[in-house]
Amino acid sequence: MWLASFKFNLPWTLHHKKGDHETLIDINKAKPINYPKPDGIYTFDKLNSISLSNIGHDANQPCHLKLSNQEIPITYNYPKYNSPEQRYCPAGVYEIIKEGDSVKLQINSQNCIHCKTCDIKDPKQNINWVPPEGGSGPIYSKM
Ligand code: SF4
Repeated sequence: MWLASFKFNLPWTLHHKKGDHETLIDINKAKPINYPKPDGIYTFDKLNSISLSNIGHDANQPCHLKLSNQEIPITYNYPKYNSPEQRYCPAGVYEIIKEGDSVKLQINSQNCIHCKTCDIKDPKQNINWVPPEGGSGPIYSKM
């Protein structure tokens, strides 16, 4: 777009051959990444980053992260990718809870910062982000 202001256009477009949700690596082929701990000066942990994003949500609103199929997170995402939603969500909204032999996905929708990554990245396209109720989201007037 900015090139158009110089009346100049590139003669090509870069295309992706696969959808982003098709690029995940099976858990048994993936190597863990050891990220350095946040220093609190230039890098921050998830909870502090959520606070910096200045998002407000109405209390007790319905979950705005809809699963088309309730089973897929545990029957497919968990065994195949160790639940990638635990890692790609920048706000830690998706948590795997283990109690004895049972495993379940907990969605902490009140922490959502509305980046829509889950809607794009879920391997089975099972997560549908919809706008939260009551105009919740970034509090621009306080930024
Ligand atoms: S839109 Fe999805 S990935 Fe982004 S913060 Fe909310 S739950 Fe996490």
